[in-house]
Amino acid sequence: MPTLLFKSEVNSAHDWKQALQSTMPELEVRVWPEAGDRGDIKYALIWTPIGDVLHTLPNLEVVFSLGAGVDHLLQQEGLRRDVPIVRMVDPALTQGMSEYLLFHVLRYHRHMSEYVVQQRETRWQQLPQDVAHTQHIGIMGLGVMGADVAGKLAALDFTVAGWSRRPKSLPGVQCFHGEGQLRTFLRDTHILICLLPLTPQTKFIINQHTLAALPRGAWVINVARGAHVNEDDLLAALESGHIAGATLDVFADEPLPASHSFWGHPAVTVTPHIASLTNPRTAAAHIVANIHRHQHGEPLTNVVDWEKGY
Ligand code: NDP
Repeated sequence: MPTLLFKSEVNSAHDWKQALQSTMPELEVRVWPEAGDRGDIKYALIWTPIGDVLHTLPNLEVVFSLGAGVDHLLQQEGLRRDVPIVRMVDPALTQGMSEYLLFHVLRYHRHMSEYVVQQRETRWQQLPQDVAHTQHIGIMGLGVMGADVAGKLAALDFTVAGWSRRPKSLPGVQCFHGEGQLRTFLRDTHILICLLPLTPQTKFIINQHTLAALPRGAWVINVARGAHVNEDDLLAALESGHIAGATLDVFADEPLPASHSFWGHPAVTVTPHIASLTNPRTAAAHIVANIHRHQHGEPLTNVVDWEKGY
């Protein structure tokens, strides 16, 4: 009987166990720390690093990540490179991310932040309403999620550009790639979205230089990882008015400390890392599909590339 070890603080173990076993009744799911005989365990499904535990599973064959981003797993010292890591790719997770981003792009585009302030001040003032096409949205990262939201924003008639590591071609999206094209990509971006994986190359990519390359009055939305943003540089750019506002879902330090200036900043919207949450009911099917592939000797999908770091 295939056996999977589950460990996470994010979702309830009960929901995952139920979702996995209703999709694959013959799968035995053990919830950490009740690992039983560790020699039985072929699969691990984890979010937070599991310390030395993975080393004590002699027959571990695949690690499944509960999240799309795997930076926290790859940073774990001594992780066995011979055991593939499969990241979470689930259309429901992608849809959730696009919903979050469409909501915030439309909120900025339709001046909702300003109208909320006006209501608090009982002020009746109509602001100019631009057509979507004049709004340039720039998406850093054109992977599973970046490509999805790019297509949806283009369908709403926004002018959409994206930036990736390798060259890309997406209908209705102006595609840039590599360090050499970063500034050109940023130059016309009114609303910048970060959907990059966190790697040594992308850490602090939103910094004084990249922020300065955006036009004055641009907005920043970070839904990738907190460490993509140099927080001091962003606060300085908000202070100077060069950046009009930021929506931040992820932070270097999570939960965001109560004393952090982002909480009360009038130009910052804070959400608690919820842009898109993995749902056991939809995600289990993708984990089980990969377990079936593995058992039939077929290649796994969405395997993390150690060299690329995502
Ligand atoms: P993918 O791996 O599918 O896409 C990553 C994209 O980033 C690719 O287009 C890749 O380029 C590009 N990229 C990577 N490195 C560089 C670089 N050095 N320069 C330029 N482009 C680069 O990831 P997903 O779309 O599935 O997810 C993106 C991130 O979103 C995750 O890593 C995670 O951190 C975050 N996330 C956040 C959630 C939240 O709730 N806040 C929920 C889910 C995910 P190329 O195409 O050339 O490889």
